[in-house]
Amino acid sequence: MESVRKNLQLYFLVFLFGITVLIWYAVFREDRHGILTIAFLDIGQGDAIFVESPSGNQMLIDGGPPSGALLREIGKMMPFYDHSIDMIMVSNPDKDHLGGFVELLNSYEVNFAVEPGTVGASSEARTLEKEIKDKKVKLYIAKRGEKIMLGGGAYFEVLFPDRDVSGVSTNDGSIVGRLVYGNTSIMFTGDSPQNVEQYLVLLDGKNLKSDVLKAGHHGSRTSSSEEFVGFVSPSYAVISDKKGNSYGHPHKETLETFDKFGIKVLRTDQVGTVVMKLDGEKIVLQQ
Ligand SMILES: [Zn+2]
Repeated sequence: MESVRKNLQLYFLVFLFGITVLIWYAVFREDRHGILTIAFLDIGQGDAIFVESPSGNQMLIDGGPPSGALLREIGKMMPFYDHSIDMIMVSNPDKDHLGGFVELLNSYEVNFAVEPGTVGASSEARTLEKEIKDKKVKLYIAKRGEKIMLGGGAYFEVLFPDRDVSGVSTNDGSIVGRLVYGNTSIMFTGDSPQNVEQYLVLLDGKNLKSDVLKAGHHGSRTSSSEEFVGFVSPSYAVISDKKGNSYGHPHKETLETFDKFGIKVLRTDQVGTVVMKLDGEKIVLQQ
């Protein structure tokens, strides 16, 4: 009798679990219809941005520092049964942008990796290169003019590098590009410095206009020049940094620039993970 009851309990639990998964899955699919989700993950001092296109393709732009925070934060954005991410992008092979990717590749199936072509000096960067090879992840070097199609009409347009940057410093060679969906767009800058920003102002001018700017180099004064910020002219600037970081990010000068243009600043060290939903016409901040 005792064992029958145990079996019944087990059956009931399995049954409940089955229903939960189905409902969750239905809600999850329902939510995607026409909606692109982007989350600037609160992973400490570094960058990690999760993107899910309207067709459900998932991409990570950077993988944060090597602290385990990446997997924790991704777990909040993806259902537990989903163990694949279509693409990872390393905007800059410094370890605050890829430190979590080695761990990620051991837990998630990843199909594509996009890199700028600069050479990272850290042991994490070398380990990631080896893992990408060993796990047969298809590797692409980003080049200006390319559009990475994400599905559902969304794409990532590469603005920089426009050349071979294998001999260039990691920050200078950062991938800069715009995630575009319908009439909405988000500018990504890695740790790109002001001289590259100025170069892009010359090349692209008012085509830099975007609704959101991921502030370069965690809000350092070495990025976010007035000219570049003026041409991007975003409603929001997102700064991905850790409270009390040793670099003093974000710098006062950067915050003053955003203030001058009336741009609302969202800092992961103050508000945690920043989630936005795009429907192609407007960007809604989730709070
Ligand atoms: Zn960085």
